[in-house]
Amino acid sequence: MSNCKKCGAEIIWARRAEKQIDGSVRIVPGARANPIDARRFTDGNLVLDSERGIYRFATGNEQEMAEHGGKRLWKSHFAVCPGADDFRRNGKAQPL
Ligand SMILES: [Zn+2]
Repeated sequence: MSNCKKCGAEIIWARRAEKQIDGSVRIVPGARANPIDARRFTDGNLVLDSERGIYRFATGNEQEMAEHGGKRLWKSHFAVCPGADDFRRNGKAQPL
C-alpha cells in the first residue's frame, strides 16, 4: 500500500487487465501501473485484484450487482483525488 503524493490517500498500484475469452484475466500488454483508490465505492467501476496487482473494468452486470447487492467496487484514484487537476495539468495522467 502507498499514499498519494497529492492528498495522502491510500492507493494501490495496479496494471490494467482484461478478461480473456477463456475467462482468465491477463494484463494488457504494455499497461503501466495506475493508482487505484484503496477505498471502495457503491458507484465504482473497477474490479481490483490487489494480490496480483491488476484491475479491470467492471462489466455492466457487475456494476448493477454492486449497486443492488451492496458489493462495492473500486475507482481510479485520479477520479477522486482532490489534486487530480495537477496530474492532468502535468500531463501525467494516463487514460485508463
Ligand atoms: Zn490523491
